Amino acid sequence: MSDNLINIYFNSDEKSMKIKNTLVQRLKDRDFYITDDPSDSASLNICIGGDGSFLRAVHDSNFSQIPFVGINTGHLGFYQEILISQIDSFIDNFINKKYKLTKLSLISAKLFKSGKFKELFALNEFAIKSDNSRICHLNVYIDEYHLERFAGDGLIVSTPSGSTAYNFSVGGSVLYQELKGYQLSPIAPINSKAYRSLTNSIVMPDNSVLKIVPIKGELNNLEIINDGVLIPLEDTDHIEFNFGLKSINKLVFNPNWYWINIKDKFL
Ligand code: NAP
Ligand code: MN
Repeated sequence: MSDNLINIYFNSDEKSMKIKNTLVQRLKDRDFYITDDPSDSASLNICIGGDGSFLRAVHDSNFSQIPFVGINTGHLGFYQEILISQIDSFIDNFINKKYKLTKLSLISAKLFKSGKFKELFALNEFAIKSDNSRICHLNVYIDEYHLERFAGDGLIVSTPSGSTAYNFSVGGSVLYQELKGYQLSPIAPINSKAYRSLTNSIVMPDNSVLKIVPIKGELNNLEIINDGVLIPLEDTDHIEFNFGLKSINKLVFNPNWYWINIKDKFL
């Protein structure tokens, strides 16, 4: 590892490009080498932009173990702790190691088709929905125990750090980012004489395996959204979710950052 090498990820909007140039100059002044062609031997991954840019950097880096830090260029920025006005103090604190390393666990989804599977990872969430605006019917198993036959618009499986994103909009709970567990939340669940679906979200322990089995006739009409990116399900016969098989590292400079975020951005 080279202590002075830093990878930079940025989005292409004008503001982020400008901030990137300023940041690169300030870092060079402090003897850092910056690359936008990510290197495995860097000591830090800096991401400039909003949460969307952070999610893309994490995926593009193939879930790099080099710690991430985000610089917010005016978006909501739940992952982006550093404000533009704090760039100098951020560099000082980084050099002086005044930060905490937090581990953000990912969720994996194995998409099974005739015994074979393709595995995806999410930092925020997976959402399973119908692709034709019709109700989807999904059998939900936790550790092989059949919990419900869900009917509604879809289900969201989210990490603690993703609990403030899509999950929050459907009424799911906010989970502390380092909590060892993950959440299943319904999107417009139906409760009537015809259907019984849980209307609240549930939080499962980190070692629970969640299995979602679409009813046969609907295998072709479902889609899965991985951190905002649509992935075709292509006849997937069931999906198995696990928590914490992979994680990323993020530097946190203010110990209260998570709660400051909640208050600043939601209240
Ligand atoms: P986007 O359309 O810009 O994202 C929607 C909003 O979610 C943005 O304001 C984004 O912040 C914010 N966000 C992303 N991750 C967050 C987190 N962990 N906590 C709190 N807010 C968060 O698309 P995007 O930037 O590519 O983000 C993809 C995410 O959008 C998905 O993972 C999903 O969670 C979310 N989403 C939400 C809804 C909904 O709430 N109904 C619907 C679809 C997708 P920035 O402005 O900083 O980017
Ligand atoms: Mn965005």
